Amino acid sequence: MSVPKIVILGAGYGGLMTAKGLAKELKSNEAEITLVNQNSYHYVTTELHKPAAGTSHHDHARLSIPSVINTKRINFIQDRVTAIKLEEKEVQLESNEPLKYDYLVVGLGSAPETFGIKGLMENAFFIRNIASVRAIREHMEYMFARYALEKKEELITIVVGGAGFTGIEYVGELVDRMPELCREYDIPLEKVRIVNVEAAPTVLPGFDKELVEYAVKYLESKGVEFLISTPIEECTEEGVILKGGQEIKAATVVWTGGVRGNKLVEESGIETMRGRVKVDENLRAPGYDNVFIIGDSSLVFNEDERPYPPTAQISTQQGQYLGKNLAVKLRGGEMKPFKYMPKGTVASLGRKEAIGVVGNKKLMGGSAAFMKKLIDLRWFYLLGGLSLVLRKGKL
Ligand code: FAD
Ligand code: NAD
Repeated sequence: MSVPKIVILGAGYGGLMTAKGLAKELKSNEAEITLVNQNSYHYVTTELHKPAAGTSHHDHARLSIPSVINTKRINFIQDRVTAIKLEEKEVQLESNEPLKYDYLVVGLGSAPETFGIKGLMENAFFIRNIASVRAIREHMEYMFARYALEKKEELITIVVGGAGFTGIEYVGELVDRMPELCREYDIPLEKVRIVNVEAAPTVLPGFDKELVEYAVKYLESKGVEFLISTPIEECTEEGVILKGGQEIKAATVVWTGGVRGNKLVEESGIETMRGRVKVDENLRAPGYDNVFIIGDSSLVFNEDERPYPPTAQISTQQGQYLGKNLAVKLRGGEMKPFKYMPKGTVASLGRKEAIGVVGNKKLMGGSAAFMKKLIDLRWFYLLGGLSLVLRKGKL
């Protein structure tokens, strides 16, 4: 007898939690579970700013997918999804035959939002995946090596475009990394320029004012220059051009100006806003009872009809929800509505500093940094229990 086929696209926060939850809930005679991911490993996106700056090795930010799933219950396919064909109930892959599904879970993450800014795609770097952060680190180090020979200031000027959480966390890592890098290449630390450019009138728009001031003061004390109310309008091979025409010459430009949903979701024909799908209370795509969108490609609204920001936190909760509730649906039950429970936000400013709000408590400095580490360890715990925490976690 054939059993329903569940296909999960993407082994990120949402996809992995869904796969693990379903494998736990459903017996093999109840459903066939397939997980597709382009790499053999899961990358820990929330850690990627570290290898991008060179403060940790990229292997700390990835782990083998088969090592964290039950491969007896989950059929893992390493391949790149090239198209989602909703009418045919089929997913097309780069190297394998198309996959038929009865239920589809899309957790393909996000893509950089460039707002059509000229030259960004061609000339800037992005903190996206293992390959992209390795490229940033190696490029930056090569520029430092060249400076030692050529003494051109732009070689040791780094522009970070966007001072949201990704931008600020990355700048925090750069601050930690610079003393070592300068020693390595015989460069006086004070010669290095790290410029964080933000279009909004403040760094971390919308976040607690006192915590933002703390972060800015700390990072400025380490030499970071902030340019606020200053949109980047173009990125060239030489650097960036700001609104008003001012140019900053920089050999390394890292764009952290925001994200949009994965383009495969847009291309499937589902209605999207900046590539993200406004899902229903069961995380389904409008008009499709059997298609669920989770993580950065989904849009969930709060009681004030404002969208929750795309985070690992909400993606994880969506995956946990679907792992339980899709199993209930398969057994003929009613799915409960998804309810997001925000636990707070903590952002690192390098290894020893951070800012955050947890519940209604504000944290800054060492206590926030400790909390951030606990949050990061929790993800390893959810994936592989205490043994994975001990193997991968660093306090
Ligand atoms: P992802 O985790 O992005 O995973 C998507 C998966 O799909 C990947 O494995 C990818 O390889 C795969 N994939 C994509 N396209 C294809 C394809 N065509 N074929 C096959 N596979 C494909 N959020 C927080 O809550 N807390 C934080 O501290 C935090 N820190 C962050 C730090 C940084 C530097 C960044 C960049 C983001 C951070 N975020 C944080 C945001 C968070 O990482 C994302 O919201 C989260 O990763 C989204 O999870 P997801 O499940 O949607 O997708
Ligand atoms: P974001 O959208 O949160 O921030 C992008 C920033 O870039 C904004 O401040 C925006 O004003 C600015 N910007 C846009 N266009 C610009 C331009 N032309 N010139 C200069 N600045 C410009 O994006 P992000 O920081 O990549 O974060 C993506 C998601 O990941 C968010 O939901 C965020 O909350 C989440 N995240 C969370 C954490 C954490 O919890 N520690 C860390 C990183 C990311």
